[in-house]
Amino acid sequence: MNPARRRAIFRRLQAANPSPTTELLHETPFELLVAVMLSAHTTDKSVNGATRKLFPVANTPAAIAKLGVEGVKPYLKTVGLYNTKAKNLIGLAQQIIEQHGGEVPDSREALEALPGVGRKTASIILNMVFGQTEIAVDTHIFRVANRTGLAPGSTPRAVEDELVATTPKEYMKDAHHWLLLHGRYVCVARVPACPKCIIADLCEYPNKTPPKALDKSDAPVVRRVGPRPRSDPKLARPGASPKAGARPRATSRTAAQSRTSVARVPDARRSTTRKRKRAAVGRLI
Ligand code: SF4
Repeated sequence: MNPARRRAIFRRLQAANPSPTTELLHETPFELLVAVMLSAHTTDKSVNGATRKLFPVANTPAAIAKLGVEGVKPYLKTVGLYNTKAKNLIGLAQQIIEQHGGEVPDSREALEALPGVGRKTASIILNMVFGQTEIAVDTHIFRVANRTGLAPGSTPRAVEDELVATTPKEYMKDAHHWLLLHGRYVCVARVPACPKCIIADLCEYPNKTPPKALDKSDAPVVRRVGPRPRSDPKLARPGASPKAGARPRATSRTAAQSRTSVARVPDARRSTTRKRKRAAVGRLI
C-alpha cells in the first residue's frame, strides 16, 4: 500500500472517531491492566460484567491480593477460563506489590513478567497508560491489517512490526483502537460490511462484500457516524461526498467515540442469518 493511501485511511478513521478508546471499563491503570488481562479469549462485555462487581470491592493490588484466589473466583465466573485467570490475577497483584511498590510497571519487560500478561496486554498498557507508541495486534487488527493491505503479515508479530514501521507518526497513538473497533463493528470476520465501510474505496481487499450481500453481514452496523472528510479529492470515492452541512447522526459523543466509524443500529433482516451463523467462527481472512 502506498503511503498516501495509508495516511488517507487513518485520516478518515480519525475524522470519524477523533478520540477512540477501549470499551473495557476502568478508572485507574491497575483496573485497566486487570481488565485487559481478563479479556484474553473472552468478550469485553463479559469482562465488564465481572469488573463492574469486582472493582467496587477490590480495585488495588493490595485489595485484590487480600481476596485470594477463592475470593476473586465468584466475581470472574462470567469470564472465560476464570479459574486460571483468578490465579493469574492474585499472582499479578502480589508481584506488583512485592516488586513494583504497588504501581503498574512502565516497562515491557516488567509487564510481561506478570502472571497472565503477554505482549498484547503489555502493548495496550504501554500505549494507553504510558503514552508509548505501541500497536497491540489482536484478532480484529490482524484481520483488518491483512484485508486492507495496511500491514500484511502471517503472524500477529509480523503485522505489529509492519504497522509500527509504516503507520504515520501522528496516528500511532490511536491506531490500535481505530483498527480494533473497525474490525469489531465493520470489518467483521465472516462477512464484512464493505458497502457501509468508510474506507472501502481505499481498502485493497479483493473480495469485498457486494451491496446485495450486505444483509448477510453479521456486522452490528448499518450506517456511519459523521460525514466523510473532503480533504482527499484524489482518494475520495466518486460521488460519495457528503451533502454540504450534513450532520453526524450519532445520538451522543459516547456512541461516536466507542464505535470507530459507525453506529450500531438494529436490523431485523439480519436476525435470522445471525442466529444461523452464531456458532460459526469465521477464518480471519
Ligand atoms: S472495505 Fe470491507 S474488507 Fe475493506 S476494510 Fe472495509 S469492511 Fe473491511
